[in-house]
Amino acid sequence: MKKEYEVLKELSLLAGIPANEKRVSQYLVSKVSEVADDVVFDHLGSIISIKGSTGPKVMIAGHMDEIGLMVTQITKEGFLKFQTIGGWFSQVMLAQVWEVHTKKGIVHGVTGVKPPHIIPADKRSIAIAIDTMYIDLGVTSKEEAEALGVEPGNMIVPKSEFLVMGNDKFLMSKAWDNRIGCAAVLEIMKRLSNDLPNTVFGTFTVQEEVGLRGAKTSAYVVEPEIAIAIDTGLAYDVPGGESAEQSLGKGPQILLLDAGLVPHQALRQLVIDTAKAENIPYQEPFITGGRTDAGHMHLAHHGAAALSIGIPTRYMHSHTGIIHYDDYENTIKLMVAVIKKLDRETVDKLLFD
Ligand SMILES: [Zn+2]
Repeated sequence: MKKEYEVLKELSLLAGIPANEKRVSQYLVSKVSEVADDVVFDHLGSIISIKGSTGPKVMIAGHMDEIGLMVTQITKEGFLKFQTIGGWFSQVMLAQVWEVHTKKGIVHGVTGVKPPHIIPADKRSIAIAIDTMYIDLGVTSKEEAEALGVEPGNMIVPKSEFLVMGNDKFLMSKAWDNRIGCAAVLEIMKRLSNDLPNTVFGTFTVQEEVGLRGAKTSAYVVEPEIAIAIDTGLAYDVPGGESAEQSLGKGPQILLLDAGLVPHQALRQLVIDTAKAENIPYQEPFITGGRTDAGHMHLAHHGAAALSIGIPTRYMHSHTGIIHYDDYENTIKLMVAVIKKLDRETVDKLLFD
């Protein structure tokens, strides 16, 4: 495996649903501390790494949490009932393997499903509702499950593998939403030089998937003038797909708008001009059914000029997302080039002209 894939593999396979991001945050703190001047936190657990000390405040953020499940009940036969955390599509959940994280370690389970033999023919095309699903741990009783450490409140995440696919730029794993954004923020902090015309706040937020909560609290700490969220975007370049602006390998997505943000127009133009000048490919989709952290980051204190950048991802919110390495690399290149331009004069012009 290529060396540059190591961080992506490690980050994507860590478990961390909203309010359970500790493993991800410990990993990121250990890495970002080596390259940032300082690292501080908000009270929800978001990490704010800082580079520079003068000039305009530029905040870039990726969220650490992933969608998952939480154990709500153990039946007397030892099956788990659960609550979804974040947006799950019922049809990708069946017959999947999961990790249940208990005090005593990881216990594996599978979402049980009836074989077709016992589903009446006229019912086979009907989607199965999430609230009828359960997780089978392969135990015989509640007591046996409890002895393994399983209890209500446990976090459940997909059990996945990191796979380098046929074309070795195509990478499959769970939780690209948004560990690929975290990896990008980390790498941007690494590549930024020490003679910046601004102060950069490389932020890793918590609880995005349940309402951009860490974005809100961390932006209150930072008080940004420029706020850019780096998140996954949709890739729909598959049979039945339509939009040319939602393709893997065609560059970072500079969102026209999403459900939480109409971007700052002058900032958007500056990012597009930078991409053109640096020969970085980019796409311009819009998303009406989703938001990014920028939706809250741009509303703290006096507000900030904000933008959402998406790294295209196929099969988002499932066990098996696919990204293209070049989109990740080009996102980093674009952000580093943009940040270098954001001196006092440029930012004042963006905000007040
Ligand atoms: Zn996301």
